[in-house]
Amino acid sequence: MAIKTRRVQKTARAERTYRGETEALFLVNELNKRLRTARGTLRETVHALQALSEYQSLPLGEQRLKISRINKVLQQYHARPLLRGDRRRKDGFRLEWQSNEGDDLELLAVLRAVELAQGGRIASLKECSNPDCKRWLFARFAHQRFCSEACKELFHSTDEADKERRRNWARDNYKSRKELELGSRKAIQTERGKGK
Ligand SMILES: [Zn+2]
Repeated sequence: MAIKTRRVQKTARAERTYRGETEALFLVNELNKRLRTARGTLRETVHALQALSEYQSLPLGEQRLKISRINKVLQQYHARPLLRGDRRRKDGFRLEWQSNEGDDLELLAVLRAVELAQGGRIASLKECSNPDCKRWLFARFAHQRFCSEACKELFHSTDEADKERRRNWARDNYKSRKELELGSRKAIQTERGKGK
């Protein structure tokens, strides 16, 4: 009797993704593309949505206020509904919004941001804590603050350099104060010497 052996197919281990991450990456990209532009509507939308945390536990008045604050930002977008054929869907088509001004990607990013807020993951969008960078990132863990290892290292090394500078300054300051004191004492002595 042949022994049946089950072949386990080894598949390349896919890189681990975190809940909401795939959806957020497009949004992060769009935010970073607009990093240096004056128009900050997308950024404003994300910030307003982030202010919705604990929304359901807020009193009704506060809920209304927060929602109207978001709507004020959203009012800047003008769009029309549009149906598109979609073979991946059972019904064969999907609803989209098309921007009247042309920037569909920004509108898509806004809709993605709303979905992310609905899924409770909007707080994972953060701006890099390296003040020279400020790029957006999707934080896999609550304590993640930097967009890259490079930014993290740079931030900590400048932080270290900063501490070193402060230490040196305190030491030099102490030294020069001592020298000044010594100098004025000597000057007094010379003055006295002259006076003799
Ligand atoms: Zn960074």
